[in-house]
Amino acid sequence: MNEFQLIDQYFRRSTTRTLLGIGDDAAIVRPTRGYDLHISSDMLVAGQHFFRNVSAYALGHKSLAVNLSDMAAMGALPRWVLLSLALPQSLESWLSEFSSGWFALADKHNIELIGGDTTCGPLTISVTILGEAPVGQCLPRSKAQAEDDIWVSGQIGLAAIAVKNQTKRLDIPSEVLAECQRKLDFPTPRVSLGMALLPYAHACLDVSDGLVGDLEHILEQSGVGANVYLSKIPTCNWLDERREEFMDCLLAGGDDYELLFTAPACYHSQIMSLATVDCPLTCIGKVSSQHELCVYDKHHHVIQFHRKGFDHFTAT
Ligand code: ADP
Ligand code: MG
Repeated sequence: MNEFQLIDQYFRRSTTRTLLGIGDDAAIVRPTRGYDLHISSDMLVAGQHFFRNVSAYALGHKSLAVNLSDMAAMGALPRWVLLSLALPQSLESWLSEFSSGWFALADKHNIELIGGDTTCGPLTISVTILGEAPVGQCLPRSKAQAEDDIWVSGQIGLAAIAVKNQTKRLDIPSEVLAECQRKLDFPTPRVSLGMALLPYAHACLDVSDGLVGDLEHILEQSGVGANVYLSKIPTCNWLDERREEFMDCLLAGGDDYELLFTAPACYHSQIMSLATVDCPLTCIGKVSSQHELCVYDKHHHVIQFHRKGFDHFTAT
């Protein structure tokens, strides 16, 4: 199968909201009048961002999910996406699984694949996404204010447990491990939450590199500090009983793809009303005017904590 047959068979789908889609030198889209375009891209490299044994179906899901999550973190509605693939070989079974995982999630979010690039090389998946939000509305990292509540969606630390278990087998019940693996392989982008937060949140991002490290980005860009409580970080029952032991997973685990945001305390009840069974919302601390981040343990002692999140260039 040559490159063009491959694109036709696995990635070309009929589109309804795109003026010109896959097949030409460029795609053409028409943004909605009165909306801003939000654009983001993310790259996944085999061995660096995912284990080589992960299924192609999960990779298809995850490579789109992490980009949808960036749109969620901005409060934007994802609309169009481009997919660039470097593949070691054109394996039909891999492509079929990958595109099934991709389109299952794309269809859920009614997002259209409008182009990309396909080349031979070490497995790398690069995705560019375009979304829309009403003119001037967004959830930046730089607008957190002292006295804001700090919120996080979903549960934190589960994906990190699955990662940890790959290198060092943990003594963990199989159903808990399966749940953690599901969080790692099939993150749920919080798109509707992000949009619903536009009127309330001051600052927001998605937790991809670890809760504390990602919170630091908001604090630095906003010129504020924060007090956060380990005991309040939402997680599963198994981790809840082992918070001190697996502190690194809760504070610096990464791969959660939950939204971390700050909002004035007066919106507490409006924000609580956005929580659902599948997407609980938890207040884990408060923004402060002191320029430092303090994480407290259950005895209200400050946790001395150094691993601030994942950095591809300093990670060992
Ligand atoms: P060009 O020669 O201009 O680089 P290509 O031959 O690479 O174009 O691609 C042909 C068409 O297929 C283009 O419209 C491109 O956007 C699209 N395309 C290529 N690879 C992918 C992919 N992995 N997913 C979606 N669209 C793709
Ligand atoms: Mg090309």
